[in-house]
Formats: sequence, structure tokens, C-alpha cells
Amino acid sequence: MNDREASASTAVGARIGVLGAGQLGRMLGLAGRALGFELTFLDPNPESPAAALGELIVADYADSAALRRLAAADVVTFEFENVPVAAVRELEGRGKVFPSSRALEVAQDRLHEKTCFRKLGIGTPPFEAVSSWPELASALARLGLPAVLKTRRFGYDGKGQAVLRSESDARAAFERLGDAPLILEGFVKFERELSVVAVRSRSGEVACYPLVQNHHVSGILHKTLAPAPRVTEALQRAANQHIEELLAELDYVGVLALELFDVDGALLANEIAPRVHNTGHWTIEGARTSQFENHLRAILGLPLGSTEAISPCAMVNLIGAEPDARAVLAVPDAHLHWYGKQPRPGRKVGHVTVRAPDAATLEQRVLELERVLSAS
Ligand code: AMP
Repeated sequence: MNDREASASTAVGARIGVLGAGQLGRMLGLAGRALGFELTFLDPNPESPAAALGELIVADYADSAALRRLAAADVVTFEFENVPVAAVRELEGRGKVFPSSRALEVAQDRLHEKTCFRKLGIGTPPFEAVSSWPELASALARLGLPAVLKTRRFGYDGKGQAVLRSESDARAAFERLGDAPLILEGFVKFERELSVVAVRSRSGEVACYPLVQNHHVSGILHKTLAPAPRVTEALQRAANQHIEELLAELDYVGVLALELFDVDGALLANEIAPRVHNTGHWTIEGARTSQFENHLRAILGLPLGSTEAISPCAMVNLIGAEPDARAVLAVPDAHLHWYGKQPRPGRKVGHVTVRAPDAATLEQRVLELERVLSAS
């Protein structure tokens, strides 16, 4: 064991470098500071939400001098999925980086990620790579309408994609998105959207959080119910098996999220996120150990904490506007997280977690919270 590994394994005072300093970095920072770690973030944005939690290096992700400074940490991780793979590779040449550049590379490209699902026998919507109008036309002839056309890279919160219900939709979407490599997917008539978040440590220990149910509005996550209602043991087992196979295939270290469609009790994989995830925010108050703490434990080679849910719980995103904090906190067992970002339409600026002793009480509290938020 070299000095760097030795100091990381003793943990107290460990220095963690993070590519990206958005809200995910901020919540990693909050968990890390509680454990006595020191954090350094690298982000081009001088107003980054994580700035208050450690040193912020303001630089482009490709800036070699900045990457060298970040690499002085005991271990480096990332909280932003679109950091250049080359930057992560450069850091790998200088020390420990988790998750690996390979996991990032697979997750950054929808075609690679779906090909990986298929290789592991994990169900996916039917899909085909598309890079020209004739390819789109023939893929549509095979997959049929409706279908979903997506850019392979850099899509998030429903951006970079279009639902196609007619040939004219297809032409308009290709006009808009066709400059980049694309993927066409069959439209899945799912019953609900679920996700599973899991963590794998440097020693190969794995822990899965319970399946959660996600509700999107205009392509942006609005609400997560945790644990998801009506989950049979078999469904949870299937989700755990899928994510465990992915973790092993990618030799993954850290938190990984897998987004799923539930189609009559069968799970189809939509995408993975190689980082802590919005559908895991409930774990801060709702689980024995938060996804943020477990990510840090994993990358430092520390024992993982329990992923068990403490009580029924919901997470509601605050999007585009500051809420009436007094009214939010008047909802019983509600917990407000504000990211310190300037509100803008469509921007995630915070979230609220609400817990309850049972599902019926939770439903009432979520309705109350949603009323408060729509009146803000
Ligand atoms: P994504 O960016 O792939 O997570 O997609 C954003 C949202 O679009 C998902 O959460 C789903 O609600 C919807 N969606 C994505 N792909 C499909 C599909 N193949 N069929 C039906 N809905 C989809």
C-alpha cells in the first residue's frame, strides 16, 4: 500500500477531489465534512453551489494545471456526468479515480449503455443507432410509431429528445437533432418509472437501496416515492440483480443509479447515471445512510452503511422558483434543501424530503407540500 492509499484508508482527514461543484457536489461536501474529510472541487462556474463546502478551483474541466491540483487529493470522483472522459483519464494517470473513466464513457453514450444492458441480458426498449435520414426512416420502419429519438450524448432532463408520433414529427425532430449521432427507441407504454441506486466499494462490497418510483413533469423529475409502492420481493430482486451485474461489468466503485420502466411487472432499463442521483436524494433523511455518505465510504474503501429505508418518504424537487420556506417547513417531518442557485425556469434549485409513519399519511403530506409549492 502506498502513502496515498494508506492515508485514504485511515479516512480521517482524507482529501477528496471532485470534478463538478453543482448541487450533487454540495451534498457530497455536506456528507464529507461531517466525516471530517477535506474537499476540493473543480468547476468552470465561480458561483458553484458546492463552493461553501471546500476549496473551489475555477477552471475548465480540460485544464491540465487545474487537474494536476485536483489530483493532489487522496481520491478523486465526479458529480457531473458530462465531464470529458479525457480529463478523468488524465486524473487516472495521476492517482485513484472512482468511478473509472470506462464507466463514465459507457454512461455518456446512450448507444453504448443500451448495448451494455443487452450484453448483460437486461431488458431495454428496442433501439437502433441512427446517423442519417435514410437510417432513421428504415429504423422507423422496423421499430414503428410512436418512437423516441434521442441524441446519443449530452441529453438530460428530457433535453435532446423527441417523441415521434408521425412521419412529419420524425422529419422535424431529425431537422432539430440530426447534427449529432442519434438513437431511436421504441416508445414504451410503461406503468410507472422506477429507479434503483446501489453502491459498490473498493473491496467489492455492494449495497442496494430500495426501488423508488419517479414522476416526471415535462421531462424533469418532479417527485420520488421511496420505497416505491407495490414492490414485490421478486421485482426488487430483479432490480438488484440488474444493477449488481452492471456494477460488476464496469468494475464500478461508488454510487450508480439505474433508471427503469415497469411494464406489467417486467423491468426495462432506460439509462444509468455514474454518480449520486436525484432519485437518491431521499436517502439523506429517509435511509440509514445517505447515498452521498455511501459514495464517499465506497471510494475511500471504507465499510458501506446500511441502505435500509427508515420510513415511507417522498422527495419533491424545487424547480425554477424559491418556495415559501416557512410554509414548507410547516408540513410535518418535511426537510428543505436549498442549493444556493439563482432560480431560473426549469432549473433544479432545491428539494424537499417528507417522511411519514405510513403510506396514507405520506400521501396527505405530499399533497399538502405540493399545494404549498404551487402557491409559492
Ligand atoms: P431519458 O432522458 O432517457 O431519461 O428520458 C426522459 C424521460 O422520457 C424518461 O424519464 C421517460 O419518462 C421518457 N422516455 C424516455 N425514453 C422513453 C421510451 N423509450 N419510451 C417511453 N418514454 C420514454
